[in-house]
Amino acid sequence: MAPTQIQRARDGEVTAAMERVAEREHRDPEFIREQVASGQAVIPNNHAHDALDPMIIGREFATKVNANIGNSEETSDLQGELEKLHAAVHYGADTVMDLSTGANLDEIRETNVDHSPVPVGTVPIYEAIKHVDDPADLTHDLLLDVIEKQAQQGVDYMTVHAGVLMEHLPLTDGRKTGIVSRGGSILAQWIEENGAQNPLYTHFEDICGIFAEHDVTFSLGDGLRPGSLADASDEAQFAELDTLGELTRTAWDHGVQVMVEGPGHVPMDQVANNVERQQAVCDGAPFYVLGPLVTDVAPGYDHITSAIGAAEAGRAGAAMLCYVTPKEHLGLPGREDVRDGLAAYRIAAHAADVAAGLPGARDWDDALSEARYEFDWRRQFDLALDPERAQAYHDQTLPGDNYKEARFCSMCGVEFCSMRIDQDARDADGKMSAIDDETDLDASPAAETNLPPVGTHDTSSVPDEIEIDGVTFTPEGGHADD
Ligand code: SF4
Repeated sequence: MAPTQIQRARDGEVTAAMERVAEREHRDPEFIREQVASGQAVIPNNHAHDALDPMIIGREFATKVNANIGNSEETSDLQGELEKLHAAVHYGADTVMDLSTGANLDEIRETNVDHSPVPVGTVPIYEAIKHVDDPADLTHDLLLDVIEKQAQQGVDYMTVHAGVLMEHLPLTDGRKTGIVSRGGSILAQWIEENGAQNPLYTHFEDICGIFAEHDVTFSLGDGLRPGSLADASDEAQFAELDTLGELTRTAWDHGVQVMVEGPGHVPMDQVANNVERQQAVCDGAPFYVLGPLVTDVAPGYDHITSAIGAAEAGRAGAAMLCYVTPKEHLGLPGREDVRDGLAAYRIAAHAADVAAGLPGARDWDDALSEARYEFDWRRQFDLALDPERAQAYHDQTLPGDNYKEARFCSMCGVEFCSMRIDQDARDADGKMSAIDDETDLDASPAAETNLPPVGTHDTSSVPDEIEIDGVTFTPEGGHADD
């Protein structure tokens, strides 16, 4: 049995995958090895996934973005799924999760793995449930068979909701939105109807054995994540998190890589606390968060509500962000939804990296700003997060080639282009030469109008009354004749 990345890292080996990751992240290969060995980062890399270009997920590295693809009972086909995979990779997904629940599951999964240069994740209980008439009929053997088959097919990481325990279920009573994770709700139903403990928990070490054989990475699912702001950070969520911490250590003992999934719907002021708590409870295992949505009121725009939470989570130390599309809560996303969701999340991830001071993260911003100030439109498009959209929007109003060097665009127009005006006001060396060390700025007529606003600083020179259009006002805000 070939060892896993974490086993090889612990043995002091820098693998080819670690070398490649070091190159992609501009980091020292030995640092990559240390991070993988300690479980602080994972390199999802199934032995059978030949098309993979290895990548790393960990808080010390660029924040990654996952895109969910896959069909449902109602819609999509193999060709449509391949188009979604292509769109996801094209628009910058670092990993994809095949969440198919419709027809041809094996064919779609194998095709995705064969064609995907990024790690492929799955939620095996989605397939297992299709083999039985009632969720209560799921068996340990069926779950393990499905997990093993998907591992053999080359899946790099799997969401396993092993942390949903019998003891946790009463803690969800009284929630506004109950259990919203698909896997979590299926397992809760199984536990209720069988009166037995979660089979993914009782057979967790068997799953570890399968994962160790194929080097599948755990994505420990948060089946009790909050589905609304009202349910965020409650007892059920944190009880499950404690179990996920325990399972993280069990998986590490078996030489299996682990990341841990997180919420969901969380008010913005609780996002950082959630990340810090997971990092403490799970000994620094990478945190993979879904959003979180920071408000519940914007169906149709949940790529935005969640990208706000994702940026905050990334800044606080989350390692990977699971994207949300505008279709969240409303329907299965199509190609354009994948594009919009990925754009929102790549912005969130990059904003987090800049704020966290990741080495080199801001170089991209600086390069684009330089191109913008130089009116180098083609370079600005090339550097844009979504080059096709940037150029399309520009060319809607100024399509001609001559406008690719123009010192304005249609936003402010030629006369009011502030960057052009600014450049025309400067000398060739970029300085405002009329102003030098000898200039007495206090003597400038503008200094008068730049006095501090009334009420904020020294008010000694403020008159007691001011008359405007025949009405006299006092500094306290009332009329003088009140
Ligand atoms: S016109 Fe306005 S938006 Fe366009 S380049 Fe000039 S300053 Fe920027």
